[in-house]
Amino acid sequence: MEIFKKFTFDSAHYLPHVSATHKCRRMHGHTYIVRLFVAGDLDPVLGWVADFGDVKAIWKPLEEQLDHRTLNDIPGLENPTAENLAIWIWRRVKPSLPALCRVEVCENPSSGVIYQGEYE
Ligand SMILES: [Zn+2]
Repeated sequence: MEIFKKFTFDSAHYLPHVSATHKCRRMHGHTYIVRLFVAGDLDPVLGWVADFGDVKAIWKPLEEQLDHRTLNDIPGLENPTAENLAIWIWRRVKPSLPALCRVEVCENPSSGVIYQGEYE
């Protein structure tokens, strides 16, 4: 079974490698939506896959790094596409949450990415 926990944060960014006329080259902001998925078996006593509170606690320090920041200023996010942000999040969450199986990052309600560790 999989569970997920959803988080939101607000950040500015721009994409430095798109053409000069592309709108994403200009600084702008998103209310990002992140969902962290955790896979596992139900604990027979507790009846859950993982404690939502544990997932929230693992996320908290990342939110402090990302929220109300310019993503381009953060080491590893110099080119802060949603794809790169998902990988960045995965690499910081996975060591503390080995059962992490998917990171979703949405820049808005209609555009997002799913990362499942393909590049690790
Ligand atoms: Zn953007």
